[in-house]
Amino acid sequence: METLQRLTRRQVDTLRAVGTSEAPERGVSLKVAAASLKVRPPSALTHLTTLEEMGLVVRYRGKSRLTARGRNTFREYQRHHRVAETLFGSLGLAPAETCVAAREIDLAISHRTVEEVCRAQAHPAECPHGEPIAPCHSPSPGKAG
Ligand SMILES: [Zn+2]
Ligand SMILES: [Zn+2]
Ligand SMILES: [Zn+2]
Repeated sequence: METLQRLTRRQVDTLRAVGTSEAPERGVSLKVAAASLKVRPPSALTHLTTLEEMGLVVRYRGKSRLTARGRNTFREYQRHHRVAETLFGSLGLAPAETCVAAREIDLAISHRTVEEVCRAQAHPAECPHGEPIAPCHSPSPGKAG
């Protein structure tokens, strides 16, 4: 199964909290990660530990950073999310609604389906919010598929 399909919503949110901090190369403390997730530190630690076991996050001197694999997985998540948003947008949903709807499916759909949906929409360059969508067939993280 693809890495994304094994992640829960909370785990993806944790990946984002680590990957979009102000200085991602320096890492985020547990306190900061918990604050951005709006959960208590023990809950954030549970998610971080699972991500570490999957090789997506590393902890060094108490701070968590994404591994190369974690960065690829997060980028792939954004691609799934934005392609799904574009699909819902083409069906007439308002931009804010496309984001909510995309979150209901973006973890479940396979890379292959995302590429097919992208192709069916003539490879949109950005999502309804203007965020860039990477071209199809970019180097895939880890195993092909
Ligand atoms: Zn969105
Ligand atoms: Zn495409
Ligand atoms: Zn968007």
